[in-house]
Amino acid sequence: MTTEVDVLIIGGGSAGLCAGVWLARNGISYRILERRPGRMTHGQADGVQVRTVEVFESFGISEELLKEAYHALEDTFWSPAGPDSSEEAGSQQQQAIDGVTGKRGIQRTYSTPDTKAGLSHLPHVILNQARINALLTEAAGATNVEYGCHVQDIVIDKSRVGDPDAHCVTVTATKDGSVEQILYKAKYVLGSDGAHSQVRKSLGFKMVGDTSDEVWGVMDVYPKTNFPDIRKKAIVRSVSGNILIIPREGDSMVRMYINLSGGAAAARDVTVAQLHQKARQIFQPYTMEFPETAWWSAYVIGQRLADEFHAHYRVFLSGDACHTHSPKAGQGMNVSLQDGYNIGWKLAAVLRKQASPELLETYVLERQKTAADLIEFDRYWSKLFSTDKKGGGITPEVFVKAGYYTAGLATQYTDSIITATTRSQPSLATKLTVGMRFPSTLVIRVGDARQMWLTRALPADSRWHLAVFGGDIQDAGAAQRLQKVGHTIFVIVVLWAKLTHQYQLALDLEGLVRAFTPSESDIDSVFNIVLILASQRANVELETIPEIFTPVSGKWKLNIFVDDENYDKTHGHSYEAYGIAPNRGALVVIRPDQYISRIDPLDDIQDIDSFFDGFLKRLNP
Ligand SMILES: Cc1cc2nc3c(=O)[nH]c(=O)nc-3n(C[C@H](O)[C@H](O)[C@H](O)COP(=O)(O)OP(=O)(O)OC[C@H]3O[C@@H](n4cnc5c(N)ncnc54)[C@H](O)[C@@H]3O)c2cc1C
Repeated sequence: MTTEVDVLIIGGGSAGLCAGVWLARNGISYRILERRPGRMTHGQADGVQVRTVEVFESFGISEELLKEAYHALEDTFWSPAGPDSSEEAGSQQQQAIDGVTGKRGIQRTYSTPDTKAGLSHLPHVILNQARINALLTEAAGATNVEYGCHVQDIVIDKSRVGDPDAHCVTVTATKDGSVEQILYKAKYVLGSDGAHSQVRKSLGFKMVGDTSDEVWGVMDVYPKTNFPDIRKKAIVRSVSGNILIIPREGDSMVRMYINLSGGAAAARDVTVAQLHQKARQIFQPYTMEFPETAWWSAYVIGQRLADEFHAHYRVFLSGDACHTHSPKAGQGMNVSLQDGYNIGWKLAAVLRKQASPELLETYVLERQKTAADLIEFDRYWSKLFSTDKKGGGITPEVFVKAGYYTAGLATQYTDSIITATTRSQPSLATKLTVGMRFPSTLVIRVGDARQMWLTRALPADSRWHLAVFGGDIQDAGAAQRLQKVGHTIFVIVVLWAKLTHQYQLALDLEGLVRAFTPSESDIDSVFNIVLILASQRANVELETIPEIFTPVSGKWKLNIFVDDENYDKTHGHSYEAYGIAPNRGALVVIRPDQYISRIDPLDDIQDIDSFFDGFLKRLNP
């Protein structure tokens, strides 16, 4: 029996499930083939960087994550104790001898906020990967996941890759341990099957990179200790070794990562008793007992990248299947999940015939570079982590500098058919960067007076977002009335400059939207237009706003915001935060995955139209 679907995802981990959420939301026929007999019960990763929390918010599933997780708010750094440990940390000659135990000790050298204020409106949280995957599984549609399905081989019919409708990839698998082979045929396959990826092997791709593997011991423990920072994220360096503490959800469990010496063979010999012993030594003179160890492992990590990320743009690799590195900066799950976040909407757009298949090439362009940057960062961070020298290691300055990266916010996509740095006018929004994710600010929704984060109005539902920063309606002087073509409604013209300008903008936007939106669909089904005015809320009357900003499918869908003070006197200062002058305004084109495509003046919709013409299907002239 052969099962035919549009997309097959191999591996139901972070990368595969995240891509699956997009496909499920777009009604794409797809299946995830997962080797495990059922859902993950105990995860490996647990650090959820702020960008990943933003991704969850965009899918509308962040509440549970935030409710259940540990919130990483403060990090502390410990070094070998000495007369002046901040100066001499690491110098063995200077280490103090603990008066009670007679052993060398450790002392806190500094504390720092985990995430620099203002980086994101969401926090860095810690939650076990099994729970994170469970949240994604629900969103991806639990029935789309086939457990107990072990993929053996992938074959691409090269003669048919030119036909976008061809199910040209054949996947062979076995089910529930049976030797009988089952066949699947798909238009596209996503290899998200982890570090030992069978998809990668079947395609003949190789992992390229460092062979000098390092061993890590990791354990989830319920410690009995007098170490004061056991409920904070802490990096502890001692003469006996280094340890990283990550407190876990539920206020009692703690994860400890311990750097061990030796290679793959050494990892096999590690015992939990050794990990306990090593931890006790590192924490001296504090007591550290382990009445319960919920899970532990020892593993080897290499810093490696796949030599290819795709085959014929029909089979793609994502997650650990194409990049592996140390867990020190807590990146693996996050970057893997974001691979899935990057490709999911693109596959959906191509399969719905909304976009040309070239859109998929941007996945490789964007995520291959992100993976290479990750390996580079991991090398740098790993070196710092194990540096004991004076002035070296992870200092507060280094930590703050790296914070942007470790938060997952440093990704900047280069120019492509969907990212237009060179065609943008960055001076219109000086604090936004084309190719980077659109940051959130607090705004007031005019329709219900609610103060909310702007990105909540940019959900991950595959629509392109057009954020129109229309300026201040007061600048128009006296309100004027214009009759809208073909309508008897009069609109009081809003906005910052010439009144005809605004009127023209509404017409141009309507032309753009209609050009790419099926005539039988809602007018806001392809583009989500969000209007942000630099006006006082009291001066904005919804009836006065041109219809394109209040589309028929959701006339009162509340997509109109003001950058103003709330009743409790809080104010988001959006225009200031984005570097947009209210008297000029700007139009920010934001991709379905919330990355900025381009920044434009309000009177050049023609250029935006030709930009979309580069990859979206024009339906109306
Ligand atoms: C101990 C440890 C701690 C870590 N801590 C962190 C952390 O704090 N933060 C962080 O970001 N990252 C961390 N990582 C890394 C993180 O776990 C991985 O980077 C992440 O899980 C990769 O996601 P993925 O979806 O690519 O692969 P995986 O999560 O490995 O998922 C791959 C899936 O594919 C399935 N599969 C494999 N082969 C087949 C096959 N042939 N057929 C069908 N299914 C198959 C597997 O069963 C698995 O479910 C840690 C890793 C380890 C080992």
